[in-house]
Amino acid sequence: MNLMFLGAPGAGKGTQAEVISDHYRIPSISTGVLLREAKERGTELGLRAKTYMEAGQLVPDEIVVGMLKERLSAPDCANGFILDGFPRTVPQAEVLDKMGVSMDLVISIEVRDEAIVERMSGRSLCASCGASYHTKFKPSAKPGVCDRCGGELKVRADDKPEVVQSRLTVYHEQTEPLKDFYEKKGKLFLVNGEGAIEDITAAITEAIDKVKG
Ligand code: AMP
Repeated sequence: MNLMFLGAPGAGKGTQAEVISDHYRIPSISTGVLLREAKERGTELGLRAKTYMEAGQLVPDEIVVGMLKERLSAPDCANGFILDGFPRTVPQAEVLDKMGVSMDLVISIEVRDEAIVERMSGRSLCASCGASYHTKFKPSAKPGVCDRCGGELKVRADDKPEVVQSRLTVYHEQTEPLKDFYEKKGKLFLVNGEGAIEDITAAITEAIDKVKG
């Protein structure tokens, strides 16, 4: 079962990918998480990626694609996986096609830009496991501490309002055309991302179960 989440930054891709990953026991692969890990470790690729990420721009394919390929070759991906944040452009989607990786379902989480801007303030992320939280919509049990692993919660450097605006522009210009790309392949499922987290999960699992048969 190969799944993909599309959606604007802050639409809830990471949040839904976590739940869906637990439910179907397939790993969730986020290129954003892989890049932030590389940045934290101070690797050469991580440091090259940093400038782009902090400006809300896409990191060049020669950095991202290699990281993704390596992750997909790990044994835990053998029975399927969830892609969160890759592809971000049509050429990246074509890389997957060339690798022979096909998708069973592409889920686009639809949220209006106005709601995105509101959501981005109050968002935090576990520095250890990458789980996402929100002060209003998904608070952790203990402030500043991850429910999953006890790690420290931090605000992302690229969640600042001015960077969020660039990320939204990049999304509309470069990522949104992917909806057409996967619609033409008959793989696209749109879900309204502005309801309660559990209701969105329910709509997504229903669509996945239909595809699974
Ligand atoms: P995310 O955690 O998915 O919001 O990604 C955070 C940042 O990492 C993005 O704003 C980009 O700078 C970079 N990034 C993540 N995934 C990709 C990708 N597939 N292609 C290029 N840049 C990416």
